[in-house]
Amino acid sequence: MVSEADCLFCRIVAKEIPADVVHETERTLAFRDIDPKAPTHVLVIPKDHYRDAAALAAADHGLADEVIKAAHAVAEQEGVAGSGYRLVFNTGPEAGQTVFHVHGHVLGGRGLTWPPG
Ligand code: IMP
Repeated sequence: MVSEADCLFCRIVAKEIPADVVHETERTLAFRDIDPKAPTHVLVIPKDHYRDAAALAAADHGLADEVIKAAHAVAEQEGVAGSGYRLVFNTGPEAGQTVFHVHGHVLGGRGLTWPPG
């Protein structure tokens, strides 16, 4: 397991910090966002630590694939796959990334406007 001691999401993977886990595979974890922006707001992460989506894709294409498949499984489980959902990877500070362990936001359950702010 690739992990960083000071990383919030690595600590969730290690079960040092509680999370409302909704989906798990051998290499991915999905849990509800603590500050939801939509009726469904779930974060999907690889258990291994990568800083952002670019680092994940550069290091392990198979794992990036697993994260996206897990996100879709969450959307199906949450009942938003049919009506539509948004999968967002904020990448870098200017895009609003605040936790530097790559995570996809699965957002759904209401009409979502475009473009985002
Ligand atoms: P970012 O801004 O794209 O990096 O997203 C980070 C997300 O993590 C935000 O939507 C936060 O609400 C969420 N978050 C921060 N701490 C926790 C936590 O302990 N559990 C679940 N979600 C968290």
